[in-house]
Amino acid sequence: MVMEYSFQPYLAAVQTNWYRDDPLLGQLLSHYAGDPDAETDNALNRWGETVAGPLRMLAEASARPESRPRLRHFDAHNRRVDQVILPESTLEALREIGGRQRLSAVHHDPFVFYTHTYLYAQNDETGVGCAMACTDGMVRALEALGDRDEHRLAVAAIRGSTAAHVCHGAQFVTEIQGGSDVPANDLDALPEGDTYRLHGPKWFCSNINADYFLVTARPRGAPDGSRGVGLFLVPAYLEGNDWQRNGYTIDRLKEKLGTRELATAEVSFNGARAYPVGPLDKGVSNVLKYVLVTSRFYCVLTAVAFLRQAERVINAYTEFRTAFGRKLVEFPLVRETLSKIRSVRATYLAVVFELLQWWEKSQKNEQPATGDFRIMMSLSKAVITAQTTHYLHEAMMLLGGNGIEECFSPLPRLYRDGVILETWEGPHNVLFTQALRDMQRFEIDPAAFVSRIAGEKRTDLSKKLEKMLAMADDPETTLAFAALANPLVEAFGERLLSESNVR
Ligand SMILES: Cc1cc2nc3c(=O)[nH]c(=O)nc-3n(C[C@H](O)[C@H](O)[C@H](O)COP(=O)(O)OP(=O)(O)OC[C@H]3O[C@@H](n4cnc5c(N)ncnc54)[C@H](O)[C@@H]3O)c2cc1C
Repeated sequence: MVMEYSFQPYLAAVQTNWYRDDPLLGQLLSHYAGDPDAETDNALNRWGETVAGPLRMLAEASARPESRPRLRHFDAHNRRVDQVILPESTLEALREIGGRQRLSAVHHDPFVFYTHTYLYAQNDETGVGCAMACTDGMVRALEALGDRDEHRLAVAAIRGSTAAHVCHGAQFVTEIQGGSDVPANDLDALPEGDTYRLHGPKWFCSNINADYFLVTARPRGAPDGSRGVGLFLVPAYLEGNDWQRNGYTIDRLKEKLGTRELATAEVSFNGARAYPVGPLDKGVSNVLKYVLVTSRFYCVLTAVAFLRQAERVINAYTEFRTAFGRKLVEFPLVRETLSKIRSVRATYLAVVFELLQWWEKSQKNEQPATGDFRIMMSLSKAVITAQTTHYLHEAMMLLGGNGIEECFSPLPRLYRDGVILETWEGPHNVLFTQALRDMQRFEIDPAAFVSRIAGEKRTDLSKKLEKMLAMADDPETTLAFAALANPLVEAFGERLLSESNVR
């Protein structure tokens, strides 16, 4: 007779405290930010329990097919409202993360702040994660460039978020003719006094339920190319109104492979009031400097959070499950996958912390050079998100059929959303091309660069890079560069881990 089969030991092993069960996270935090004081440590400890308990359950509820965001064009009084209906689970997670914890705009120590982010990102509730990433970028842009009351009001509302009202932002750059080629943006911005009116469509508008949007558009009469694209702040609703949208319609919600908890829309602007942000001939560079760099950092951080979740799930499952009278973990092939995923997660987490440190320094114009930061951010985003999808696939395979079942573990969801992390904010090719261009622009010396990134012993990598840069105008070079990116990012993380003396 088959005994009643119980998954309880596996469940108990994955529902621990996600801060406490991750010594590497604590060690890297101490290395980069100093040992947390008792108050910070207690807060992280409580957060480790919250993300593994109530927030995990909310994320699971949001992921169910019946919880998908819906769009209601008209209300019962024939008013065009274009209301985005989100499930209560997403709204409650937003209240906790954006409201009570205020994790949408950096405050206090950035390393502690992003450690909180890393922990909740392990749940992969994209209705919340995307909102927080976009809002962080918006606040950075408005605090650096803002010079009008509308800018200050938006920042104050976001920073003043509470559980009763979470104020958040979104960013709309991509148009139907292409997302990578931002200088080809065609949305029309018509001047009206010291404001503008926007006319035309945007093609991928995530977090469309936000209160404010950052939108790129071409001021009427501006030249072609990047100098003709400006950046604008657009409130979601008309002033003093909570139902009438500010001169745009939400035409359709995307049906996506991943990030299904997140409402991503196709939008038509037909006279939306827009407030310029920064010089209008610098829209593209400002989007890159404040908004895209933030989103790319979130992509890398979130990818590593996914790997941590996968590592936890497969550790627990292979310790619990038996086949042919042995625990799965005892099979050499299983151990090989476990060890590889453990190792890449550690390496990539070190990269996340280092990139954050470089980002902080570059904002204060301190060393290391902006060039190194830009290049490694582009390469890390391309490499780490692609490798994450690969390893999530491997992790799912370790659970066999249960790995494919949507409600057994979060792995299928993480896998689908891993693909979105790869696409969003710059597909691989674009990032490799950009990194290569930056290498030329900052006149990078290959040997010195590789020594800074990977350590002086990695002459194998510097020789390859030298050869490649010598033929930088050859179309084949981008291919060679793409192949070099993976070992370079791995070597970067390996060096950081050994120098920080953790593991
Ligand atoms: C779920 C989801 C949510 C999104 N949310 C938003 C959002 O909120 N706001 C927003 O603005 N956008 C959003 N996007 C759009 C996203 O940023 C774009 O999809 C992305 O920038 C790529 O643009 P594209 O899709 O037009 O592809 P394209 O730019 O048309 O690229 C297609 C292919 O061509 C390649 N390619 C392009 N240029 C080059 C080059 N120079 N060298 C080599 N190869 C090249 C690319 O790598 C890619 O493989 C979202 C996308 C997804 C999937």
